[in-house]
Amino acid sequence: MTETNLTHLKSYTTADVLARPPYRGKLLINGHWVDAADGSTLERNSPAHDRLVAVYAKAGVVDAERAIAAAREAFDRGPWPQMKGAERARILRNVAEGILTSKEELALMETLENGKPLAQSRAEVEGAADLWHYAATLARNLHGDSYNTLGEQTLGVVLRDPIGVVSIITPWNFPFLIVSQKLPFALAAGCTTVVKPAEVTSGTTVMLGEILVAAGIPAGVVNILVGRGNVVGEVLVTHPDVDMLSFTGSTSVGKQAVAKSAQTLKKVSMELGGKNPQIIFADCDWDAALDATVFGIYFNAGQCCNSGSRILVQESIADKFAAAVVERSKRVSVGDPLTPGVQVGAITTDKQLDTILAHVDAARKAGAQVVLGGSRMNRTGMYVEPTVVTGVTRDMAIAREEVFGPVLSILTFKTLDEAIALANGTLYGLSAAVWSRDFSTCLSAARRIRAGTVWVNTFLEGHAELPFGGYHESGIGRELGRFATEDYTETKTLHLHLGERTEWWLPR
Ligand code: NAD
Repeated sequence: MTETNLTHLKSYTTADVLARPPYRGKLLINGHWVDAADGSTLERNSPAHDRLVAVYAKAGVVDAERAIAAAREAFDRGPWPQMKGAERARILRNVAEGILTSKEELALMETLENGKPLAQSRAEVEGAADLWHYAATLARNLHGDSYNTLGEQTLGVVLRDPIGVVSIITPWNFPFLIVSQKLPFALAAGCTTVVKPAEVTSGTTVMLGEILVAAGIPAGVVNILVGRGNVVGEVLVTHPDVDMLSFTGSTSVGKQAVAKSAQTLKKVSMELGGKNPQIIFADCDWDAALDATVFGIYFNAGQCCNSGSRILVQESIADKFAAAVVERSKRVSVGDPLTPGVQVGAITTDKQLDTILAHVDAARKAGAQVVLGGSRMNRTGMYVEPTVVTGVTRDMAIAREEVFGPVLSILTFKTLDEAIALANGTLYGLSAAVWSRDFSTCLSAARRIRAGTVWVNTFLEGHAELPFGGYHESGIGRELGRFATEDYTETKTLHLHLGERTEWWLPR
């Protein structure tokens, strides 16, 4: 996949990786790798090393329109939507195997563009391959319904019809995992697609295009565009030939996309932001809750929609718990994501870095105490110290807004009712966790929390079988799970009359 392959080596250093020429990616339109119509290119520097790691053809409006036309043609003329589920499943399994074969190159690219530790990228690539395998099982299992209860002369058949052309727009925090939460399920349903990754982390999605072509995906079924959201994304959201929008990103861009897509009444699937609470009761498993607290906020440098960015801790243990969180936060290893053992890498974009620091500043001004970290680290690359903020109250912005960085807010509560009010007191509803040794406390809380996922005595676990998505402003619809392919279908009713017409409207 790259000109200088390192993956045959047992180990390699940061210097080996950075000595390679930058990855060069083109646009995948109608089965061909092409330059942008206007010849534009886009460069990406590694946020961890500040070195050029990729150069892409940069799509514009004309390229986006060509990609949509190719997807439309591939849908309207086939063969993909008409293919047997078993045949689509075979190709999806080929893709899964191709991903595993290219694991190291994909993981390296993810780390170079996103800044996350290499071991984490490897695990995500494996997780993504599992999603392609899982979607392959759904491709064979997609089915409708029938009614044999409508009388002697009527048979009702409900068909699941692929919805058509799907625009897939993804963010930069888990680029490969998130495209794999969408694309294989849309393909399993028989849809054709145009995919636009976030411009700063396009590499693994372009590489996926190479794997798809090798796996036998027909021309036009998957088109991939590297480009800016406000140019290419805009076309994918508004074009009348697109039937559905599957978007993961910020709530603010997501809301605008829904409004614009409404002009052509597209179906939408939206995975947006979160301000996820972990509720820590006094009778929790102390060590487990502490470990999940630091994991929940520092994993992926806190750049997770599911990040456990709010700890709600019962007052009787609050001071001791906060002190222990600070102590454990100091043990988190932050640094070059290519160095083995590093747990937290770089912040992915300079804009995000500024946003994180501005949130910490605002919390200080609002009267909260920054008891650990709060600054950019003094080294090459964009790194932020693990940060703990105490004395946070529910009215402060840091208690309600997504920071999307390694910044933990700690709030306190006395009773279960108070904890639930705090947990449900934001505009989001993506996920939450409850920590208690009393299962009835856990279940009472879990049932009252308004969020798409509630973890009980664990955090940030995911399985292909379990649906994922948010309440309120965290999104619309669910990904994964056994109904994931159905989201990419229309429902069609066949009303079948058997035998002679028996009821005449006009007198005979
Ligand atoms: P973003 O909203 O800035 O960008 C997401 C995607 O939208 C990118 O590909 C971007 O190019 C594109 N885009 C930007 N402007 C557009 C426009 N006008 N029209 C169409 N597309 C446009 O989000 P981000 O900063 O890349 O990602 C971080 C956000 O994503 C966070 O808010 C996070 O919570 C959210 N997220 C949610 C989930 C989830 O499953 N709920 C998962 C990961 C990330």
